[in-house]
Amino acid sequence: MALTHKHLEKLFRVPPTKGRIRLRNYDAAWAARDHFRDLKKDALKARAEKYLKTNLAALSAAQEVLWASDRYSLLIVLQAMDAAGKDGTIKHVMSGVNPQGCQVYSFKKPSDEDLDHTFLWRYMKALPERGRIGIFNRSYYEDVLVVRVHRELLERQKLPPESFGRRFWQARFEDINRFEHHLARNGTVVLKFFLHMSKAEQRKRFLARLNDPAKHWKMSDADIEEREHWDAYHEAFEDVFRHTSTKWAPWWIVPADHKWVARAIVAAVVTRAIQDLDLKVPAVSRGRERELAHARTRLVR
Ligand code: ATP
Ligand code: MG
Repeated sequence: MALTHKHLEKLFRVPPTKGRIRLRNYDAAWAARDHFRDLKKDALKARAEKYLKTNLAALSAAQEVLWASDRYSLLIVLQAMDAAGKDGTIKHVMSGVNPQGCQVYSFKKPSDEDLDHTFLWRYMKALPERGRIGIFNRSYYEDVLVVRVHRELLERQKLPPESFGRRFWQARFEDINRFEHHLARNGTVVLKFFLHMSKAEQRKRFLARLNDPAKHWKMSDADIEEREHWDAYHEAFEDVFRHTSTKWAPWWIVPADHKWVARAIVAAVVTRAIQDLDLKVPAVSRGRERELAHARTRLVR
């Protein structure tokens, strides 16, 4: 049975819900085996790579129309635990698109200037303009993830005392939902991906990095440190999915133990989102057509 977009939605798109989302119900090592029962591992990988390639060609075409029609933009939010493959996903998925039509922002610890503003400020400044694809490598979701796991970071945000209450995180989720609603209503399509990797796979990847001097630059002490907070992060993520997967800005929980699976799914979802806008290359007026015909004749002569 072929794998359609409907399957992907059913498997990985988090429906708007009031109930708890449990990450353990999502298989990080999913590899389409139910759909391609007869295929062995290598054949599966080859299939995913072919699927990715087809999608990249479609994505490239879709991006061109997005750019030409200059009405919508696309915001891709990428969140994950360390070593889940955010960088590789960006590299692969964007490999086919025109660099002029796309931008990537990687958000690190906020600066003093950032902290002198509300938490959405620095992200707002980095939004993609119409016609472009913008990628947030980490995002405002860090302000309900790392900041939630490490409360001391919240103190640095210099908030007025009355903003702290029982509903503090709930209020942040509301801010985020309204912010994204504002974007969606004004032409920014918002897609959010969580690259879902298992704890065992992270261990494997860290060890591979530690065992290979050429990969040592990729490791930071914080990586091992943050791993200790795995459960707290997962709980924070589950709460994020429960409260911020909306009709206008859905979360996708993408299985990422197999890098080729994650890349293929992200590429497929992004491509489909642009195609769903049903954009056409802008038509020009009759008069303009006549002028262009005239220009053509002159050039030919
Ligand atoms: P790499 O894959 O290269 O390690 P990275 O995204 O992990 O990329 P780092 O420089 O290692 O980049 O880490 C960035 C750090 O910034 C993360 O630990 C992240 O939690 C932190 N960070 C991002 N946004 C915020 C925020 N709003 N408040 C506090 N810390 C943040
Ligand atoms: Mg890091």
